[in-house]
Amino acid sequence: MTQTVSGFEIPPIPRNATGPRVPSCGYLVQEIKDGVHWITDGGYQCAFVVCEDGVVAIDAPPSLGGLVTQAIRDVTSKPVTHVVYTHSHGDHIGAVNQFPDDAIRIAQRETHSILLESGDPARRLPDVTFKDSYRLEVGGRVLDLHYKGSNHAPGNSFVHLPQQRILMLVDVIYPGWVPFTNIAQSKNIRGFMAHHDHALAFDFDTMITGHLTRLGTREDVETQRAYMHDIRRAAQHALEITPEKRELAREAVGLDHIYLYFKTMYEAAAAEAARPVIEKWSGRLAGVETLGVNHTLTMYHSLRLDENAEPHVVFFPPLAT
Ligand SMILES: [Zn+2]
Repeated sequence: MTQTVSGFEIPPIPRNATGPRVPSCGYLVQEIKDGVHWITDGGYQCAFVVCEDGVVAIDAPPSLGGLVTQAIRDVTSKPVTHVVYTHSHGDHIGAVNQFPDDAIRIAQRETHSILLESGDPARRLPDVTFKDSYRLEVGGRVLDLHYKGSNHAPGNSFVHLPQQRILMLVDVIYPGWVPFTNIAQSKNIRGFMAHHDHALAFDFDTMITGHLTRLGTREDVETQRAYMHDIRRAAQHALEITPEKRELAREAVGLDHIYLYFKTMYEAAAAEAARPVIEKWSGRLAGVETLGVNHTLTMYHSLRLDENAEPHVVFFPPLAT
């Protein structure tokens, strides 16, 4: 049966949105290049680098749990000596306690602050922190960590492997798909947008993105950047048509239930403005029918609150006219 969302039929998932099949053991581990491996369970991704005398692990999602260590053991018997946290979120680093206690944990300063505040024993505090960048050289391998400001989350950092031309950035780029709900739950939409350009400034061929079933490419970053700029334009249009939706909302639900009135007004503007974006990207990026309106609405609120766009349009709608 065909499913519809926001009046759009959900087409089959584009082929470009699917990756290699995950074996029945529950995980897939593959070498990308020269000791750099990725692991996926089909929903989450993490990585590790085999060095001369040890292994550098990057993230350990609870969805994979102990399978991360199992995947490393499929490849090498060398000990895990270093653990890099891409960011603080428990769904990506909540299983890092499987690594040896004496492994050196490295993360950006903001990540350290967030973890200190949370006090979650499953996410041990990093031993080494950095502000802007940090080079980790272990047994002939180089990992460059870079922080370019808040994006999906404060502290969310790039891991660049210049020798292998591989870039890891989690929860920002979604190869073959539109970003996750609320623009990948971003804490900073402007920073999220800028990270497409920050990513493309690195020298890389392959990207590990933290989610979904395949690796990313430069083209995936460019495609998502084009989609996100369409969403931004749609959100600007939604701001412009808000006055007419205000009337529509007042007629439809009245003014007494103020939350319902605002919700109706915002959603009507976002739904109308998102329509051409969804039509343009349907069949090219999976999930646009499901989340195109949500992205437009999220961007709309970012523009009106963070960038103070058209404040006269939305801040003080006349409640009694
Ligand atoms: Zn996250």
